Amino acid sequence: MLTTIIYRSHICDNVPVKTLEEMVDAANNKNGYADVTGILLFNGTHFFQLLEGPEESVLTIYRHICEDVRHYNVVELLRDYAPARRFGKAGMELFDLREHDSNQVLQTVLDKGTSKYQLTYDDRALQFFRTFVEAREKENYFEIPEADSWDFVADDSAVAPVTTPSGHCSFAFQPIIDPLAQEVVSLEALLRTPDGDSPQAWFAGLAAEDVYDADLKSKSVAFAMAAALDLGKQSLSVNLLPMTLVKIPGAVAFLVEEIHKNGLVPDQIIVEFTEQEIISRLEEFTGAIRQLKAAGIRVAIDHFGAGFAGLSLLARFQPERIKINRELIEDVHKSGPRQAIILGIIKSCTSLEISVCAVGVEKPEEWMWLESAGISLFQGHLFARPAFAGIPAVAWPEKRSGF
Ligand code: C2E
Ligand code: MN
Ligand code: MN
Repeated sequence: MLTTIIYRSHICDNVPVKTLEEMVDAANNKNGYADVTGILLFNGTHFFQLLEGPEESVLTIYRHICEDVRHYNVVELLRDYAPARRFGKAGMELFDLREHDSNQVLQTVLDKGTSKYQLTYDDRALQFFRTFVEAREKENYFEIPEADSWDFVADDSAVAPVTTPSGHCSFAFQPIIDPLAQEVVSLEALLRTPDGDSPQAWFAGLAAEDVYDADLKSKSVAFAMAAALDLGKQSLSVNLLPMTLVKIPGAVAFLVEEIHKNGLVPDQIIVEFTEQEIISRLEEFTGAIRQLKAAGIRVAIDHFGAGFAGLSLLARFQPERIKINRELIEDVHKSGPRQAIILGIIKSCTSLEISVCAVGVEKPEEWMWLESAGISLFQGHLFARPAFAGIPAVAWPEKRSGF
């Protein structure tokens, strides 16, 4: 199937612009065999390339392009299917934008085209061209340094595991941090079986009618463990299914009582709702949220954007925090669509004074891109893995000398 990939990248400082023609010649040979065609634009700093051809061949060539050391910060902007090639003439043609009059440059590029798309401006691929040629969207290019420009150095804040107060369930704790401020903003209590197995494993051992009650009651274990871990004023995040608040009468009162019983205060608690579960009784749910807020407990929307009701839920009530899940975070530095969605979330949340936390951050590049985009709260293996019944050390980023 005819596949199109468009990417943008940044030329490395040590690559002489003179050698570009040779690069393109070599690429042409390769692309010819693979039946891949396209066009490469260069503006003195950035490359912008469109590749068209059979899916397998385009993907193979794109993989090699991503590994090419002559450019960096390769961001995939579009991957799509089309009925015909837009630039089918040459294997790969280089077009240096600096050599052309800026008023005519777009038309000159389009004149190289071979398809009926030539002047169809609602073709997304050609809209990407237009945007690049007109140098719009540049404020969204975040040039991040190499992964090894930071060291991640573990501190000595780990707290050894405490014993679990009940035999039914336990918790692991994972810090949510502001890496540049070197501050632990919150600890999240993550449900575990007594053996340290996952939340799914724990829920799987319950009868369906017990799930919500057990979810609620497990929070008394979380609060007791937090107290045993000597949390002090540190804020604590706990997870709840939205329907737990709807289906269990007096759920908020129960939480408040358990919080006080364990020497904590409601103001230090954040309840995170997973929107994985469809909230079928939205009216009652928003009522429960009001009760939580009236008690001084803060609220976060978890897995934001992953499932049902992300945006419509946000229109309905505004939490203190939203958490963007790993599905959107993974390799964000390489993905135009993820970048666009996350920038949109940040923009909405900034207007609403909602703080944004990125969850599941594993790579330095993901963190650097997200920091550049304006996120300052992070949770992920890059900084600390959840510690079963204890608190893990945090690996803080330190700029390497020479960078
Ligand atoms: P969550 O609230 O989004 O919690 C974060 C999950 O991401 C945790 O999985 C954590 O171990 C994992 N994680 C953190 N950093 C990374 C990373 O860098 N890479 C990867 N691959 N994963 C990372 P966990 O503990 O298995 O929890 C899964 C989900 O189970 C939670 O997602 C939450 O939605 C739910 N859950 C946890 N505790 C409770 C609870 O007490 N009640 C309810 N209803 N749900 C809970
Ligand atoms: Mn959570
Ligand atoms: Mn999750």
